[in-house]
Amino acid sequence: VDKSSQRLTIAIQKSGRLSTESIALLQACGFRFSLHEARLLAHSSNQPVDLLRVRDDDIPGLVMDGVVDLGLVGENVLDEVRLERKATNISYDFTRLRALEFGQCRLSIAVPKEDNYQGLADLQGKRIATTYPYLLQNYLQQQGISASNAILTGSVEVAPRAGLADAICDLVSTGATLEANGLIEKEVIFRSQAQLIQRPGSLPAAKQAIVDQLLPRIDGVQMAKE
Ligand code: ATP
Ligand code: ZN
Repeated sequence: VDKSSQRLTIAIQKSGRLSTESIALLQACGFRFSLHEARLLAHSSNQPVDLLRVRDDDIPGLVMDGVVDLGLVGENVLDEVRLERKATNISYDFTRLRALEFGQCRLSIAVPKEDNYQGLADLQGKRIATTYPYLLQNYLQQQGISASNAILTGSVEVAPRAGLADAICDLVSTGATLEANGLIEKEVIFRSQAQLIQRPGSLPAAKQAIVDQLLPRIDGVQMAKE
């Protein structure tokens, strides 16, 4: 990515739960894109705007490092990266422009159904499997609970049965995955939706003008949905 470029660069998730709605929103805001499955970069044909299509986990860092101008990402991933960077002394500055009203989910603690779970105190000294170690520890600390993380990048919900952890902390939408793995949701620790974020510092005037045009269009699209 050429940082001196006058084209506004927007990072979105390449393929996953946020992709379709991210592209649909930008198109509804008047940007035209032709997307080629294999390509990382997509140029808008009617605006000086480029889409960078990456894994959602990479989006907050790309924005915070100023490698891209804007990013569309789940608040769960955004906050996890922010806490991780804060803890490891990497800059975590960014501007939140809009909550996007899609990608809703919650990060919850779930325990095996047969456990006689009474409350958070039952997690004291236990091991909790998660992909979100910073959000989890941030929450436990606020609640005065000390538990250890078992950090997994996937298949978190099988960890208790596999003997890797006593509980899990994972994203939930319907609870069907939990149910299928004999788990029951007990504590919601974070509620999330997709966010539009901007890199720190001011944008060159040409890019700022596009953002100034984009934001009221997003508001319009959201208003029309209500
Ligand atoms: P990537 O390959 O980009 O890393 P991923 O597997 O990490 O993809 P997805 O499962 O596509 O990510 O989810 C992307 C984001 O969508 C989540 O971080 C969350 O913000 C949001 N989301 C919305 N609904 C759900 C859901 N039911 N389960 C999980 N995530 C959801
Ligand atoms: Zn991801």
